Amino acid sequence: MTRVDQWNEVLSRIHVAEDGAARARGSVALVAVSKTFDADAIRPVITAGQRVFGENRVQESQGKWPELKAETSGITLHLIGPLQSNKAADAVALFDVIETIDREKIARAVAAEIARQGKPVRIYVQVNTGLEPQKAGIAPEETAAFVAMCRDALNLLVEGLMCIPPADENPGPHFALLAKLAAENGVEKLSMGMSGDFDVAIAFGATSVRVGSAIFGLRDVVARPA
Ligand SMILES: *Cc1c(COP(=O)(O)O)cnc(C)c1O
Repeated sequence: MTRVDQWNEVLSRIHVAEDGAARARGSVALVAVSKTFDADAIRPVITAGQRVFGENRVQESQGKWPELKAETSGITLHLIGPLQSNKAADAVALFDVIETIDREKIARAVAAEIARQGKPVRIYVQVNTGLEPQKAGIAPEETAAFVAMCRDALNLLVEGLMCIPPADENPGPHFALLAKLAAENGVEKLSMGMSGDFDVAIAFGATSVRVGSAIFGLRDVVARPA
């Protein structure tokens, strides 16, 4: 199967999951995760109609997305990997959505760049639902205070919450927790579900799923989600 075939299959599986959860078709956005793949690998998927992409490194993205964005209008780029505050200016310049806000320092740096560049980048707060020490994200019990700080002190529009459940656990309870935290805090969107579990995430209310290998194939460099 070509990457375009695999992309079509993922879209069909999203529709099946939407139907299964009695959710409207089109209620779940596909973020195609193209990390480690170059412009030539990504281009056919853009030509086929995909417009929303996810990347986990700012520097890698700078090497391919300015060119791809110039070729096709309407591309939306999500940063789904950890962000250092010294890269905030570059991230705000290139990305439309930053899904990995999880520290006051990075939230402040992003807010300052949004103001300076006049670019209304949307943000998600990453929640470490499994409290894994090696994984990014705020603790679930910090969500209310952190979201309030982003909104009230920094004037950021918190569009959604994002999580990456522990690899070796049933993801359902983690997706349910993220949905509960979003509802409690008046946050609209939920970024959850990857190649192995996006159907489950849709059943728990995901509004976007981040799917890489099911579309692009296995990655040469093992880029572990942080
Ligand atoms: C790589 C990555 C994905 C995509 O993972 P696949 O299993 O290839 O679908 C999703 N989310 C994050 C944060 C990632 O780093």
